[in-house]
Amino acid sequence: MINDIFGEGGWLSEHLDNYKTRPGQVELAEAIDLALEEGHHLLAEGPTGTGKSMAYGIPAALHAFTTEQPVVIVTANITLQEQLYHKDLPLIADILDGRLGVEDDEGPLPRLKFHLVKGMANYVCKDKIAELEAAGVMDDWFEAIAGWASFTQTGDKSELDVEYPRDIWGSVSCTPDDCTKSECKYIESCFAFKARGAGQGTAQVVVTNYHMLYTDIMVREATGNQVSMLPPYKVLIMDEAHEAVDIAMSFNGFELSPAVFKWMAKGLTKVAHPDADRHYRAIVRCADNFFSNLHGSWSYDILRKPLGYDDGLVFALRDAVNFIRAFCEDQPKNEDSRTVSRLKTMTKSMLKKADEVEGVTMNDRLPEGNVYYIDKNHKGYISLCCKVVEVQDYLRQHIFSHKTVIAVSATLATGSSFKFIANELGLHKEEYQGHVGESPFNPERVLLVVPDIPAPKQRDQHMASVARVVEHIAKDLKGRTMALFTSYKALEHVNKHVSQRLKGVKILVQGELPKSRIIEVFKKEKNCLILATSSFWQGVDIPGQSLSCLIIDKFPFLPPSDPVLKYLEEVIEADGGSAFFEYSIPKAVIALKQGVGRLIRTEEDFGVVVLCDNRIDTTGYGKQFLKAFPVGHFRSDTGSLADVSGFLNDMNS
Ligand code: SF4
Repeated sequence: MINDIFGEGGWLSEHLDNYKTRPGQVELAEAIDLALEEGHHLLAEGPTGTGKSMAYGIPAALHAFTTEQPVVIVTANITLQEQLYHKDLPLIADILDGRLGVEDDEGPLPRLKFHLVKGMANYVCKDKIAELEAAGVMDDWFEAIAGWASFTQTGDKSELDVEYPRDIWGSVSCTPDDCTKSECKYIESCFAFKARGAGQGTAQVVVTNYHMLYTDIMVREATGNQVSMLPPYKVLIMDEAHEAVDIAMSFNGFELSPAVFKWMAKGLTKVAHPDADRHYRAIVRCADNFFSNLHGSWSYDILRKPLGYDDGLVFALRDAVNFIRAFCEDQPKNEDSRTVSRLKTMTKSMLKKADEVEGVTMNDRLPEGNVYYIDKNHKGYISLCCKVVEVQDYLRQHIFSHKTVIAVSATLATGSSFKFIANELGLHKEEYQGHVGESPFNPERVLLVVPDIPAPKQRDQHMASVARVVEHIAKDLKGRTMALFTSYKALEHVNKHVSQRLKGVKILVQGELPKSRIIEVFKKEKNCLILATSSFWQGVDIPGQSLSCLIIDKFPFLPPSDPVLKYLEEVIEADGGSAFFEYSIPKAVIALKQGVGRLIRTEEDFGVVVLCDNRIDTTGYGKQFLKAFPVGHFRSDTGSLADVSGFLNDMNS
């Protein structure tokens, strides 16, 4: 069947102009089809250009038709979900239309049905809009959203071409924590609930994100399977599976900041009671004190014991909960219940946060298996974080023990081994099969240059040299370059250097514009230089010569002070292993492969990667990183930088 669809003259060629069979795509589709038929887990790497979404989408649809059971596809980013929902799955439905299923007397063969389940926060909340309108607090932002909310059929923010600041969008949308659900008078016409319900029962393929996957597990567990976010399913396709574990660690933990408490308690300011404002101010004051104390004792390390102080925050939260409960009790039963419902919902969040703070401050000891730490971002904001590092039992219990899982990504293997990712997911060797696809791109079209500059351990000299490399390349190529950094510090240093020296090149710095806007400008204006850190190492798709050169400052190792890394070092080394070889290197190789994957997006593309890290040449483990580059040409000698424009000119002619 796979060959009938993907092969020469097959079903796909009937629907796509200039369709060419890609051997890597067929092999991946066959491996997935077999795994679904036999019911075994598959870990599969399909390099960029393989056509992964069709390679799993078609076997998934075939399987759903045959078994009459829905298949769930989960991805890490919304762009890929939209692409699956708006492009790939409609195409698959067209290809399979009239060819599968059981004909009944009523009409033609069934057509593939698919459904996209997004997080609630993607939809505008009618109740919050009504509340803001009633309170007369509409400004230009809110008026624009309210105007759109009055006619949109979906309420989905992806319809809007403006990216609203997070706090504005947060005021007009809900999360499961503050939605009043069955008590809301708009429940029947609610966009979020309509979207979740539409097609949910009949769809054969359901697309969603990891957050929703884990929320579904949480909700099922809390309600004894009475409530769920996803339909019952036996087959799960995890795309971008290299992110599954990190997202599970964060999902099962928490991140608290003063803004979280301010935002959560905001509802108190709308309560018509003389004491409400006092409770609100108490929470905000205690939270501010607590976090400024944390600021004073910040060090980027694992918290080994409870903090021993909470500055009255737990008491303030529980006191407010008692106040809200008493206030709600006193309300006449026939009163408009919106405020009461929202306040009741708010008390659940307050109690949860109170428990989280208490768990890390006032208990005798911190729970095992979790990593607690105080984080400080590049702007200096402090947060209190918890990651549940040991997620393997959780994944096994809820997913691997009773589903067939196809885990795919462009970057899942190290070399040709899945040992690292299997360990992360908690899979034993005999529990999965692996498939590593070949890159469909011609390596001869890529040059890797490692300039002769100081090693990363000579920090200042290295950073200054990287700045000069970026300046040289961006001048030489008149933009057409993206520089990816492993830290904000390096980004800021290089930005300062090049912004004084580059004329005629537009510098686009991560954080100064939304990511999507930076990519749009870069594609349109041609003479641009992107300077970015982690979020641009993946999910950036710029085919063609707009992006001709990718500069990477150094191997993307986690910083030695990273609390999760420190925890794992202790665990691995207590077992006699080496955390550097067993965790740090494979993790960095996978991250590097993601970064390098930004350069060559189509068969027609060619380009240069400039890696400012000579450890690729000077260390034994450098070879593992070299394998991450699909390159045909490698220069690491003095003067190799001069080759960059020459190589691009040769390829152009
Ligand atoms: S059900 Fe929840 S999300 Fe929907 S309108 Fe009501 S409060 Fe908003």
